[in-house]
Amino acid sequence: METKVGKEELLALGGELIREGFPVAFPTETVYGLGGDAYNEKAVEAIFNAKGRPQDNPLIVHISSPKELEGVAVDVPKAAYKLFEVFSPGPLTLVLKKSPLIPKRTTGGLDTVGVRIPDHPLALGLIKAAARPIAAPSANVSGRVSPTEASHVLEDMKGKIPLILDGGKTRVGIESTVLDLTKDIPVILRPGAVTAGMLAPVLGAVKVFSGEVVVAEAPGMKYKHYSPVCPCVGVNGPQTARAEYEKREGEGLNPVLVASDNLIEKSGIKNAISLGNSPEAAMANLFSALRKAEKKFGYILLEWFEGADYYPVQNRIKKATGGAVIR
Ligand code: AMP
Ligand code: MG
Repeated sequence: METKVGKEELLALGGELIREGFPVAFPTETVYGLGGDAYNEKAVEAIFNAKGRPQDNPLIVHISSPKELEGVAVDVPKAAYKLFEVFSPGPLTLVLKKSPLIPKRTTGGLDTVGVRIPDHPLALGLIKAAARPIAAPSANVSGRVSPTEASHVLEDMKGKIPLILDGGKTRVGIESTVLDLTKDIPVILRPGAVTAGMLAPVLGAVKVFSGEVVVAEAPGMKYKHYSPVCPCVGVNGPQTARAEYEKREGEGLNPVLVASDNLIEKSGIKNAISLGNSPEAAMANLFSALRKAEKKFGYILLEWFEGADYYPVQNRIKKATGGAVIR
């Protein structure tokens, strides 16, 4: 299959393809999504096939306005509308009771559905052109780093899908915050750019999911995401970074440091890819830095950020390293 790449001039085609049951990749403010008609089991199946994604890992349903919630969820609590008013369009996914219109294939077999309004003109344009909710996970092959540029999607999806909408580099860079509103006290299942500190004033109370996943709250939580194809470990300071770098260089592994400018400078390591110097920059740059690193190098040293502001980034770094950190 030929994979077309283009911008808003291909929105009408994108809408048609979605209605016909084909997957279409599109940019959002978080990462690129691989979208299909949320009501059509065959379309959803095509997404799982293109990604090689486990069937019990639910997709997020994307809508373009709060009014469209009616076609997606039932018994929607008032808090959901309040949250949409404050944070949408934006990187917040709400887990609600699923409407019978949404097939279980879309929700990984769950009775709940994750819903969000993406903050990107091409994403909103595609939903409007398709005139239905669009189910979409990240547009990477399952187990690989999420795509933050159209070229990343092409790497993973070339020949497997008919269309990639190109919106340049995504602004936020990590996946949305997932908030479960079906519990007595709302729970953050996946941290993202919308933090507990931002949600608490609107909700009163919010819990952060922590600890071992024994029975997964969301089936997706049990999968290790975002693994680079080469080994990747955390390093927590300039001395450990330097020592680990020299050790791996000695083994002929062609290592690279992926870190803040601050750590790169202090470590004196020349083979380095910058994540900038703020939590926002680290979020925006992490996935593209990992894709760059795995292409050119054989061993990744990834800064083990500390501090509450880095919590969402730290969550992805734990997944990329499998929790391995050199202290
Ligand atoms: P992806 O966008 O590829 O990260 O995949 C969507 C993710 O959203 C899943 O892996 C879950 O973490 C989360 N998600 C989607 N729907 C639900 C749901 N009904 N309940 C809990 N989490 C969900
Ligand atoms: Mg994903």
